[in-house]
Amino acid sequence: MATDILDVAPSLALCGATVVVALDPPEVVAADVVLAGGRIAAVGTAPPGVPRRDCSGTLIVPGNVCAHHHLYSALSRGMPYRLAPPVTFTEILQRVWWRLDRALDERSIRASALRGGLDALRAGTTTIVDHHASPNAIDGSLDIIADTLAQLGVRSVLCYEVSDRDGPERAAAGIAENRRFLTRAGGLSRGMMGAHASFTLSDETLAEVVDVARSGGVGVHIHVAEDAADQADARARCGHGVVERLDRAGLLTDQALLAHCVHVAPAEIHAVADTGATVVCNPRSNMNNSVGHSPFHHLAPGLGGGVALGTDGIGGDLFAESQVGYFRTREAEVATPGNWPLARLADGARFAGGVHGEPLLGSIRPGAPADLVVLDYPTPTPVTADNLVGHWVFGLTSGQVRDVLVAGELVVADRRSTRVDETEVAAEGSGEAQRLWGRMDEIAAHGFTPERSRR
Ligand SMILES: [Zn+2]
Repeated sequence: MATDILDVAPSLALCGATVVVALDPPEVVAADVVLAGGRIAAVGTAPPGVPRRDCSGTLIVPGNVCAHHHLYSALSRGMPYRLAPPVTFTEILQRVWWRLDRALDERSIRASALRGGLDALRAGTTTIVDHHASPNAIDGSLDIIADTLAQLGVRSVLCYEVSDRDGPERAAAGIAENRRFLTRAGGLSRGMMGAHASFTLSDETLAEVVDVARSGGVGVHIHVAEDAADQADARARCGHGVVERLDRAGLLTDQALLAHCVHVAPAEIHAVADTGATVVCNPRSNMNNSVGHSPFHHLAPGLGGGVALGTDGIGGDLFAESQVGYFRTREAEVATPGNWPLARLADGARFAGGVHGEPLLGSIRPGAPADLVVLDYPTPTPVTADNLVGHWVFGLTSGQVRDVLVAGELVVADRRSTRVDETEVAAEGSGEAQRLWGRMDEIAAHGFTPERSRR
């Protein structure tokens, strides 16, 4: 691949930066980054005659990957809440998210993807792995998100979260939407199979989800044991835990993406690790929902298919997520390995790179897709491979993001999108948010409970 790149004329050179070539293990060099054909052509000295962009005084890092996002929640920020305060995780779903998702229509899905995608890019996140739900606007919803993210220049991995909570027709429509999108995805977007969580899936629906994933050659993106309620439901349903239920259904493969895995026993941790599935920790969301702390934060090196980081819909800022996750992990275990944030982000890039057929995604090596972020970082101390994590945890913020490139295209330059008018995006988001909140006000708390669904 690298030799092919050398045949393409360089399009741009980012000059004079400190370059983080890789996160895990860290590699840092002072160099120019030369781009050609949407990829990294060289990390060294830019040849004469190539258009140059001055990056002196900056730190260039691989674009971050958000391995579990819900872009549909992008317009929820600050929304009014008038029901009784939820006191359990299931009530949070019934009273907040399962009302918001039913209020979504095509316009608000687009506005959410536009707002959420732009926020992620501006925060230095170049790939979003999204888990979408809009039970009253299922058909074509993934196309709306894919087209909107392509317009912004965001790389993505998309799926629709199949669930029985809104009845059999919508479960079937969700399966059909995933199946349809798997044949359509291309450019910067790829598809996966999506499923909500074990506790809202019947055996029949779960079997169909696995069947579509198998025939599409993809993995399943699903919430696993986010709350104890998921485990209690699996035990009541089939006499064993969530991990065994999903494994018996054939869902746990090395392409699977398992969000949360908070309430898992040691045997389940090993069972997940044995399959090579990727786990996504979402530390800020778990703390906000008071569901507990995933033992996968402390996964021993070498165990399993990787532990990535997601925001679970709390924006698209992986600098913030990796810092909070690190502090939460240190709080529980002061002997947390120092490279924790970098290793977690590298695992997310490895997963997304696998889906995109780009094994070098997440690095700035010749041949890698040119997904990278230029940070204005007036460092008080030298940045080296040995101390990179110290700068990452204690120094970097998304507010330093100056430029963002995806597939070699400058999609954010000097802190502004080059693709969309940010003032118009703000106006569209604000208008759609108010219409969405108005519709949501008319929707009652969801009547689904795991107990009722098992009857
Ligand atoms: Zn989630």
